[in-house]
Amino acid sequence: MIWNVPAETMPRDDLAALQASRLQALVRRVDERVPFYRQAFERAGVRPEQIRTLADIRRLPWTRKTDLRDHYPFGLFAVPRDQVVRLHASSGTTGKPTVVGYTRADVQMWAEVCARCLAAGGGRPGDVFHNAYGYGLFTGGLGMHYGAELMGMTVVPVSGGNTERQLLLIGDFQPRVIACTPSYMLTLAEAALARGLDPRRLSLRFAVLGAEPWTEAMRRQIERLLPVRAVNIYGLSEVIGPGVSNECVEAQQGSHVFEDHFLVEVVDPRSGEPLPPGEVGELVFTTLTKEALPVIRYRTGDLASLDPSPCRCGRTLARMSLVVGRTDDMLIIRGINVFPSQVESVVVQFPELSPHYQLRITRERTLDDLEVRIEADPSGDGGAAADRGAALEARVTERLRGVVGIHIRVRVVSPGSLPRSEGGKLRRVIDERTS
Ligand SMILES: [Zn+2]
Repeated sequence: MIWNVPAETMPRDDLAALQASRLQALVRRVDERVPFYRQAFERAGVRPEQIRTLADIRRLPWTRKTDLRDHYPFGLFAVPRDQVVRLHASSGTTGKPTVVGYTRADVQMWAEVCARCLAAGGGRPGDVFHNAYGYGLFTGGLGMHYGAELMGMTVVPVSGGNTERQLLLIGDFQPRVIACTPSYMLTLAEAALARGLDPRRLSLRFAVLGAEPWTEAMRRQIERLLPVRAVNIYGLSEVIGPGVSNECVEAQQGSHVFEDHFLVEVVDPRSGEPLPPGEVGELVFTTLTKEALPVIRYRTGDLASLDPSPCRCGRTLARMSLVVGRTDDMLIIRGINVFPSQVESVVVQFPELSPHYQLRITRERTLDDLEVRIEADPSGDGGAAADRGAALEARVTERLRGVVGIHIRVRVVSPGSLPRSEGGKLRRVIDERTS
C-alpha cells in the first residue's frame, strides 16, 4: 500500500515546483538563523534571493560531516535549543560524535516518512511489527517505532541483540513485518536452524532491511531462507535517520526517495558535477522541510545511482540503487571511477568462483593496469583444466567490462591462495602505483 498517495504519486512537474519553493524558503531560513550557512553562502558568492529554481541549487556550497563535528554539539541548529524535543547521535570512529536534533514537527515528519517506508515494504495497519533496530542514541529503533505507531501497527520494541529472546518473541507474537540489518536477518535465520526450527515456518512475511550496505546476493539468500520479501530502507542521521528512502515490495528495484522532504543529487565525487540517471556517484541530500537541523547539499559519502523513471507500484518518486560503496573506497583507473563492489557484484554471479578476490593496480609508464585475482570455488573440482579456466576468465572479463566499463585482467587462482589478514579478511585492494 501507499501511505501518502498525494505525496508519493505526485506528477514530477508538481513535485519539482514544490521542491523549488521549499528550497527557496529553506535557504532564506538558514541564512537568517545559522551563522555557518550565512558565511558559507557569502564565501560562495550567493545570496538567498538568487535561488529561484531547482537548477540554482548548484550555486550552493556543500555541507560535510566535518562541518557537523566542527560545530558540536548544537552549533548548526536553526532553532533555539528549547524547541528541540529530541537528540540523537552517531558514534564517531574518531573523536566527537555527530549530534542531530528534532523539533516536534521534525519528529512528526520523521514518523510520516517511516510510515511510508513500512507501507512500501509490505506493512499494513494492524500488523505485528518486530522492530529489531537498536533503540537509544542511534536513530534506527525510535525512527521506525514512531512510523509504525503512526500507521497503527502493533510495535514490538525488541531492539538489537539477544537472539534467543528474539526468536521466542517471534514465535509467540507472530509478527508479519520485521525491521533490522540484513546481516542480523541472516543471523536470526541461522539461529533458528541451529535450534532445529525451520525459519521458513516463521510468521514473518516482509523484512525492511538497512543501516548497512548489502547486495542482491544477500537479498536472494534471505528470501531463500525465510518466507519474506526483503526490501531496502535507507537513511542517515544527518538527514533524518531511517526514512530517507525505501524500496517498494512490488518492484524491489531501488528505493523511492521521499523527495518532497529530501532533495537528492548524485554527483561525481571528485568534480562535484551532477551525473545523469543510471550513473553511480555520491548521494547528496538537502533537507527541504526539517526545522532543527536542516542540511544543504550534504555529502553522504555513499555511492549509488538514481532512476527517475515511473515504477510499477505507482509512486512517481525517483529510486536510488542499493549503496554500492563509499567514496573512500573508490579507485580511479585510467580516469574511470571503479568501485570494488562493482567487481564483487560480477564475481558472485559465477558459481565456479568464491567471493574471495583481490584487486591489484599497477602502472606501466603512464597507463594504469587493473588485475583481479579470484579464488575458484572450493566445492568445484579445484584443479579445473587450464582451458576451462581460460574460458571462465574470458567470460568474467567480458562481464566486468560491461559493468565497470574498462578492461580488467582476470586470473582465477586456487582456493585459499590469496593472503588473508589476521581477522580472516582479505585485503581487497593492492595499489602498486607509485605516484
Ligand atoms: Zn515502486
